[in-house]
Amino acid sequence: MACMEHLKQQLEEAAIPYSCGEPLARHTSFQIGGPAALFCTPHTTQQLIQALELCRAEGVRTYILGNGSNLLFSDKGFDGVVLCTRSIQPEIQVEGDRIIAGAGMSLQQVCEEAARHGLTGLEFAYGIPGSLGGAVYMNAGAYGGETRDVLLEVEFVDEAGQVRSLPVDQLELGYRTSVFARTGWCVLRATLQLAEGDREQIQAKMDDLMNRRREKQPLEYPSAGSAFKRPEGAFAGSLIEQCGLRGYRVGDAAISEKHCGFIVNLGHASCADVLELARQVSDRVHQQTGFVLEKEIRVVE
Ligand SMILES: Cc1cc2nc3c(=O)[nH]c(=O)nc-3n(C[C@H](O)[C@H](O)[C@H](O)COP(=O)(O)OP(=O)(O)OC[C@H]3O[C@@H](n4cnc5c(N)ncnc54)[C@H](O)[C@@H]3O)c2cc1C
Repeated sequence: MACMEHLKQQLEEAAIPYSCGEPLARHTSFQIGGPAALFCTPHTTQQLIQALELCRAEGVRTYILGNGSNLLFSDKGFDGVVLCTRSIQPEIQVEGDRIIAGAGMSLQQVCEEAARHGLTGLEFAYGIPGSLGGAVYMNAGAYGGETRDVLLEVEFVDEAGQVRSLPVDQLELGYRTSVFARTGWCVLRATLQLAEGDREQIQAKMDDLMNRRREKQPLEYPSAGSAFKRPEGAFAGSLIEQCGLRGYRVGDAAISEKHCGFIVNLGHASCADVLELARQVSDRVHQQTGFVLEKEIRVVE
């Protein structure tokens, strides 16, 4: 713990804000998760790079938190430093048909900026409640589009603390995965390549997709979106429904009545409840249908 005390001192000297024992449930859309030993909220990308470097030098474990919309933190919390990108001041530039934005920007903000400039291509992402960094890490997608379709280049910090950039074809973007999921590199900024379009049509498409989400998804409950990845040749939600598991519960974690692909928190669900529910549901689906369900939600224990 001596290294943690030293780290706190250095964060203070660098004027990088942090708090101790912050409940992670406050920072995830699931509203689940115990305390973070240190919860760091850099104001700038430069502070984020510096905080990462200080943690690296002290050998302290780190975890990058975007908007917390795809995460399930352990009930015990996280014994290292959670670095939050949402606290970074908004950073966005439009250059012709390209947008360069900071990792902590919400997808909603980036989509709205694209629409304002009459730039099309990113409408699919409107309504995904994540940050740009989280979307790159997860290669987030919806309604026939995914992040890699619009990504040109990403700036990041690697495991040696070097700031580097890579073009999209070197980012190993696949179904809900990327090079960042494999390496833990921290995304700083992304350049998106969009195309000129009609402002009204772009807005209309975004509104339509948002309405479809409101109709189909249990947005009234805390969740982390689709709990399972789509298995080849089927939909996780349909398989779960087919197995008679609509509304199935473990503690306060439940298969949503509205959309069986979602696990929702009915009030006081714990991480253990969600994991047990996911295990039982996967087992039942496998026994009854032969399909293997893999979690889409990132579990941090
Ligand atoms: C109601 C609801 C609907 C959803 N709908 C969709 C959907 O349609 N399509 C879809 O793909 N997803 C969907 N999701 C899931 C989620 O919004 C996406 O996966 C999103 O991309 C996660 O972004 P985030 O900023 O919240 O990431 P977080 O949940 O904070 O983190 C997810 C992962 O990304 C990593 N990460 C975050 N930021 C960075 C960074 N700057 N550098 C490196 N790693 C980083 C984290 O360490 C973590 O491993 C939905 C979730 C909810 C709650």
